[in-house]
Amino acid sequence: MTRLPGERLDRRPAAAGAPADRADPADAAPLVGVLALQGDVLEHTRALRAVGVRPLPVRSVADLEAVDGLVLPGGESTAISRALGRAGLDEPLARRIADGLPVLGTCAGLILLSDELVEDDALPRPGGIAVRTRRNAYGPQTASFDVRVEVAGLDGGPMDVAFIRAPRIEAVLGDAVDVLAEVDGAPVAVQQGARIGLAFHPEVTGDLRLHARLADLVRRRTAR
Ligand code: GLN
Repeated sequence: MTRLPGERLDRRPAAAGAPADRADPADAAPLVGVLALQGDVLEHTRALRAVGVRPLPVRSVADLEAVDGLVLPGGESTAISRALGRAGLDEPLARRIADGLPVLGTCAGLILLSDELVEDDALPRPGGIAVRTRRNAYGPQTASFDVRVEVAGLDGGPMDVAFIRAPRIEAVLGDAVDVLAEVDGAPVAVQQGARIGLAFHPEVTGDLRLHARLADLVRRRTAR
């Protein structure tokens, strides 16, 4: 397991004046979930901690209700979709996303956030980003690749990211979607409101600037 740059292993010190009734007064940072039914949960958990929010593995409706933001990790979208149904999380998740919960979906997570899927449109999923996406469009596991990609609005130069049996965004379906990055003419990072969808895995290469962007979206929403 690679250690993520800037990862803190200690807890943040108690914030002065933190409400005494908090279960863990040592940390008043927002709670950001990682859907933990299948996929690369651990990497995102570490990434969230490194960008200064409190990660929570989400496996139940009570977990989901507790979080101020959520990562939908990569993995196998069909397996995650089935598990969401089994856990009774499918409708509550769709509702929270529709209500504006900040979310970051990577790879399988992007598939679950896509309003349309080529060939797999029957896959039960929350949707929320107006794109048409094709699963496994970049070839098999053996055709996985790392690439440098320039992402709009990120300081510090291009990101090094991994594509692993990645989905391809074939069309953007509305003005509400901003394309943040493209590879070979296809969008690979999109944002619609507080929802970010990535065809790649930033957590694998350890560039956490998009996790930091999610954390900012969460802080902005919780500060209101
Ligand atoms: N191929 C997977 C799917 O269709 C996504 C791969 C990934 O998340 N790395 O769900």
